[in-house]
Parts: sequence; C-alpha cells; structure tokens
Amino acid sequence: MLPDIDTLDVDNLCPFYMVVSSDERRIIDAGSTLKKIIGSDSIGGLFDDYFSVERPKNVALNSNEPINLKQAWVLSHRPDKLNLRGTFIPLTASRALFAGTVVVSSANTLKDHNLHIADFSPADPTPDLIILHRFRDMQLQDQQRQIESLTATIEARDMYSKDAHTDELTGIGNRRYFWTAGDQAMDAMPSNQIALIIIVDLRGFKNINDTFGHVAGDKILQVIAKRCKNVITDRDIAARLGGDEFALLYFCEREAESEQMIKALRSSLLEPIQWEDRQLSVRASFGATYVTDNLCISDALKMADLAMYAGRKLDEQGNTVSWFTHELGKSLAYRNSVLASIDDAITQRQVVPWFQPIVDLEDGSLHGFEALARWHHPELGLIFPDVFIEIAAEAGCLHRLDALMLESSLDQLKIWAAAGKHYIVHVNLSGTSVLPSLECTMIDMLQERGLTPDRIALELTGTNILNFDQQTKEVLDSLSAAGIAIHLDDFGTGFSSLTHLHDLPISGIKIDRSFLINYPDNKRSVALVNTVLNLAQTLDLEVVSEGIETEEQNQWITSGGSHYGQGYLYGKPAPQIPVSIVPLAGRTNLNVRPEPCACCIARPSQALIQNSWQLGVR
Ligand code: C2E
Ligand code: CA
Ligand code: CA
Repeated sequence: MLPDIDTLDVDNLCPFYMVVSSDERRIIDAGSTLKKIIGSDSIGGLFDDYFSVERPKNVALNSNEPINLKQAWVLSHRPDKLNLRGTFIPLTASRALFAGTVVVSSANTLKDHNLHIADFSPADPTPDLIILHRFRDMQLQDQQRQIESLTATIEARDMYSKDAHTDELTGIGNRRYFWTAGDQAMDAMPSNQIALIIIVDLRGFKNINDTFGHVAGDKILQVIAKRCKNVITDRDIAARLGGDEFALLYFCEREAESEQMIKALRSSLLEPIQWEDRQLSVRASFGATYVTDNLCISDALKMADLAMYAGRKLDEQGNTVSWFTHELGKSLAYRNSVLASIDDAITQRQVVPWFQPIVDLEDGSLHGFEALARWHHPELGLIFPDVFIEIAAEAGCLHRLDALMLESSLDQLKIWAAAGKHYIVHVNLSGTSVLPSLECTMIDMLQERGLTPDRIALELTGTNILNFDQQTKEVLDSLSAAGIAIHLDDFGTGFSSLTHLHDLPISGIKIDRSFLINYPDNKRSVALVNTVLNLAQTLDLEVVSEGIETEEQNQWITSGGSHYGQGYLYGKPAPQIPVSIVPLAGRTNLNVRPEPCACCIARPSQALIQNSWQLGVR
C-alpha cells in the first residue's frame, strides 16, 4: 500500500543526485527552493526523466574538475504537478548531493501516474550510495534526529520496493518492474538469444467498465494478466503498464518461437471471460518490436507503443500485431527531438503566430485573424501545431506556448492599431491555460499596448474544457465580464457540448471544418450545420465557419446565416501581415496581390498557392 502522500514526509524517501553546472539560462542558487521540475512529463512513459541525473556534458561524475556547486540546471518544469525542492550538500570538489523533496500537489498526481515512493530513487548513483553520502554528511553534523529518519528511510525503501514493483490489482509486475527487471534481463541475455517486446492494449475495455461496472473491469484485467503470464516462461517478464495496457518481454532463440508465442497470446486473449452469467470478451491491439542490443527497455517499449498506436488506427477489429518499422523509428526520433527542444523554443520565441483572415460574410470585409502557432525550428524547419501542441502538453509547457501566442498576437494587434486597422484576433487557448491569473495577465497585456478587450477572442475547444470545474467557470466568467469574448472552437466535434453553451459565458462558436468538407454530398453534415446555425441564432451566438474552400461552401454557409468565414478561399495562414492591407470592400473586389505574404488576405491564385507552399504556408 502506498502511504498517504499528503501526510508523509517524503524528504527522506526521495533523495536524488544532481551535478551542477554554471552556464544555463535557468539557474537556481544553492539552498533556494527548486520550484521547477527536472525532466519531462509523459503520462506513463518517461518518469525516469524527472529524476535523471543531469550533469554538464564535459563533467563526469567522478571527475576531479572542480565545478561551481552553487547552481543547477533545470531542464523542464511542470509547476502544477510536482515540485522539487532541496539543498546542495557538497561532497567533494566536483560532486554535490542535491537532497531533494518531491512536493506533490495532490495525492492523485501520484496515483494517476502510477508512481510509488520508491520510484524517486535515482538510478545513478545508487540509492545506497546516496544514503551513504547523506549519512556521512549527517554524521559530520551529528544530528541524531536526521540519522534516525535516515534509518527509517532505509527501512521504508526496503518495505516499499516490493510494492513498488507489483501491480496491486493483477499481482504481476508494473511498469517500473518492467523497466528494471527488463533491463537486468537484457543485460543477462545469452548471445544466442533474441528478445521481443509486445504491448497489448485492450479494446472496448472502457465499455465493459461502463456497462458492467468496475468490479467486472477489474476481473477482466486480472484474467488478461494471467493469460499473458501463461504464454511465457518464468524467465520472461509480463507487466501491466497501467490502465488496460500490458507488456511482455519474451526471450527465445528463433523468431519462429516468438511468432508461436504471439499466436498463442492472441488466441488466448480472444477467449471469452465468464462474468456472473455472462461471457465477456475483449479485443486487443498489439505492438511489437525486437529489442536489439543497443536499446534500453524504455526505448523499446516506446517503439512497441508507437507501432501499436500506428496500427491501431487501421485495426478496426483488433487482434492485429503491428511491428515497429524504420519509418516509425524516424518519426519517433523526430518526436523525441521535438519534445527535447519545445521548452527552449518557447523561451527563445521560435514559436510565432501566423495569421489567417476571418472575413465578414455579409460584405466580404476583413474582420480579423485567427492566430495559429507555427514553430520555426532552427534545424527541423517549419513545424505545424498538429505535431507540437500535443508534445507541448506532454512537456508541460502548453500554457507557456499559449501565453507566448497571446503576447505576440497582441503585439501584432498594436502594430495594426498604430496603422489605423482595428482588427479582432482569435487566439487558441488550451484548457491548462485557463488559470486564475489569466484575466489580470490579459488586462495588463492589453493595457500595456493601449488595446481594448474587444480586440481579442479566445477560442477554446470542448475537449479542452471537457469537465470544466468551478475555477474554470470563474476564470471564463471574469474574462467575459472584462469584455473578452470566449468562443467554442471545433463546434460539433469531439466533446463540444450544449452544457458548455449553457454554463459558460460563450459568445461565439466556430463550426468545424469537417462539416464543410463534403458539401453538398454529405446530407448529415449539411443538416447538422443548418441546425447549429439555427441554434446559434436563437442563442444570439456569433458564428465563424472554418475551412471554406469553395464558392459553393461559401454561398451555402453565408445564406445559412454564418456571420464570419475563414478558409483557404479567403486566405491561408501567413507569417507577416503587412500593415498596408486593404480591407476587402466586397467579394467581387478580391484581388490577388503579388506579395507572397499577402496571399492570406486575397483569394490565392494558383501561382500564389504554389508560392505559399514553397514558403511552407499551408
Ligand atoms: P483550429 O483552431 O481548428 O485551427 C484551424 C486549422 O484549420 C488550422 O490548422 C488552419 O490552418 C486549418 N485551416 C483553416 N482553413 C482551412 C481550409 O480552408 N482548409 C484546410 N484544409 N485547413 C484549413 P493548424 O494551423 O495546423 O492548427 C491546427 C490546430 O492546432 C488548431 O485547430 C488548434 O486547435 C491548434 N492550435 C494552433 N495554434 C494554437 C495555439 O496557439 N494554442 C493552442 N492551444 N492550440 C493551437
Ligand atoms: Ca481555433
Ligand atoms: Ca477546427
């Protein structure tokens, strides 16, 4: 059992080691409270990163080179989840022990992530070594109380290490066990053997939980765990990685044996499971990879996971095994490099808004723009938000990205205002950005630039505010009271719900592009959009229709009562908007402007589309 994290003094349970450096931007003084987190946050994946030993590249742990012991690097941070704090205890001229505390904002944070206290032990140097170092230090200070608590630390560590590696529900190993035991087993693997990792991700499990309750769900997980164990031998490893995801590490001499095992696994999982008087069945998607010798288990797991996800999209029925491929490998490497640099990219303002025109459909005049994030990566080139938004969320810096976009968009508004153009800018906001400080920050930002709140509209998707709480509501209420418009983005898709319209101060909606795509062929989409337009009229909501690409779509959506339109027909997102743009006086007057950057406000000619593609404009 996990101790109650809120009452537990975790200080002595999670010492970790950090070697210090002096030349980073984010520097923390010795003895100060570390408010930031080390590593990156990735649900279920990279927890080692939180506590990885970070040292300057040129300084080895056993180096005799003296380094400045007063400062430390912090890689990434997630202040709303976990905080680290602690002090540096100099050990030798080149080494310092950072005795840290992990402060957890809520017990759930730990549970959600399946972390146990023992997870906070560092891999290098060993926990024992750290404890020894601390012990020596404490002896020097002769602090009896600390020595006692250290003894308790050692006992507690021993006590929890078993729990820390076992999945309570199924009794098989957990993710942490899979990593540690897996790496050990790989180290010990005889040279004539090969190792295979296979991830099993249940399909339809949520339905069972929802329909038959959690007791039935638990039973399924237990049976699946047992079946996974049954197809392997004792020297192989099975673990529940979390939720309804399992993994096996299988050793054999020939690929044919692993194929046999996979076959057995698939057919055993297909067997129905008896629950009360019913037979329940689950399906699964599988991702597999061979663990070649230079891979650590956590990397191999990521590869199998990636294969599983890639295959899952094509695997309607389930029960298909998707193998990791070289192409996926490239995308994994790409993703990792994006993940590693996103935080710095935001700090260095490499992420900038591109602006896509929003047009008043009544007269074709330019109403404003939507700011869409683009990342000008120094090595990887232009990166689009469908790649990096999710990664920024994973790295815990999406709120910083949103803040940067907000700030840059307001800067642009100020430039326009100075030129006498009073446009509205729509800025996308993720749920994590809806913080209590948002209203003040926004008002300050607007005032600093001499702008009024009606210049800006915030676009939130239903998914972002799916289970909005009282705080979110209050923040949005205060923004709205301050005159800042809140729009519901991607309306009609995902989790946008009438509850949002009912309970939140939403003043506008954005009809998602997916409804316009197959106009006029898709009768259902047409009916839905017409209904939404009626609803908006009744509720007095402003409507922007997104993704207008053809004249037919434009006529339909305009006659249906959409107030504003946005889409390639009017212009693609573009990097710089010249201040000299002339609001369009009517659609018949649309002129193709020669400057590439102006393609965003004029209906682009083929040549300009060509041009904009070359520029990386989508
Ligand atoms: P979104 O808010 O629904 O943005 C509209 C997307 O549709 C944009 O893609 C835009 O380039 C594209 N689009 C607009 N008109 C057309 C059209 O006529 N045809 C086609 N094929 N596409 C069109 P983009 O820029 O790649 O953005 C993707 C999503 O990334 C956005 O969807 C938004 O959810 C998110 N995003 C973009 N910038 C930010 C940001 O600053 N913060 C946050 N949190 N999310 C952002
Ligand atoms: Ca949007
Ligand atoms: Ca959309």
